[in-house]
Amino acid sequence: MHHPNTPLWLCEVTHDPVTVSACLACARERRQPTCPFNPALLRALAAANEPDAALSGLHQTGYPVLRVSSLTGCVRQSWYSLRAERRLEKPSEHWSRLRGTIFHAALEQMGDGHVERRLTAFLYDTSVAAFVSGRIDGYDPETASLTDYKTARRLPGSLRPHHLRQVQLYAWLLWKNGYGAPRSLRIVYISMAAVRSFDAAVPKESDLMRLEENLLVRIRAILHDNPPPPIPQESWECKYCGFAQCPAHAGQSDEAGSKEE
Ligand code: SF4
Repeated sequence: MHHPNTPLWLCEVTHDPVTVSACLACARERRQPTCPFNPALLRALAAANEPDAALSGLHQTGYPVLRVSSLTGCVRQSWYSLRAERRLEKPSEHWSRLRGTIFHAALEQMGDGHVERRLTAFLYDTSVAAFVSGRIDGYDPETASLTDYKTARRLPGSLRPHHLRQVQLYAWLLWKNGYGAPRSLRIVYISMAAVRSFDAAVPKESDLMRLEENLLVRIRAILHDNPPPPIPQESWECKYCGFAQCPAHAGQSDEAGSKEE
């Protein structure tokens, strides 16, 4: 649960840190006439930012908790995420995240048998131990098919590499949780105008074992006292990175809502 007295974001107009309640009060009274957000949208944005209760429980065990989304990109960014405060953003910069949440909520209410499930695995060797956790969009146990939905402003022409890594990690999580290796992997991209789907190669058990070994290497680097080299997995990551203290940081984009998801 986000602490009510801790600023959640920066005011859209003044760019000063603001708590949710102060932001809602301001919007209710239209104190900043140029602010495009009303209380209903701000409340939805704040709800989409709430930390997952299941993850908070895992944190209480004292072991590091690494989300799938933080294990598919820049290792140094994950290193910072565990240690440093992320810079606060304006509500408009949170907008693309709400778009995904809205779509997932709609699928859960109206989609055929759509169930989101959080899966967690405890991974350890002689030097590190951590929970790896991810929320799987759609898994049909009857057909062993795994589907991941991505909302995007523009549909990509091909399967994005970090989305492939993500869905492979979901396959690994299913396997670790006793579901067996999935028999199909599909990534469905959705924009406000169209849908495009890509099938990914189905990993064999030997692939999943190799993935686990690579995961341990990555986790060791994330948990190490010294930061890993400032080398992103893909160059666009530095442009949207929230950690300006990194020497590779490329400054902030002014193109709100264009973040990778
Ligand atoms: S600026 Fe680039 S290299 Fe540095 S942590 Fe961010 S994504 Fe990684």
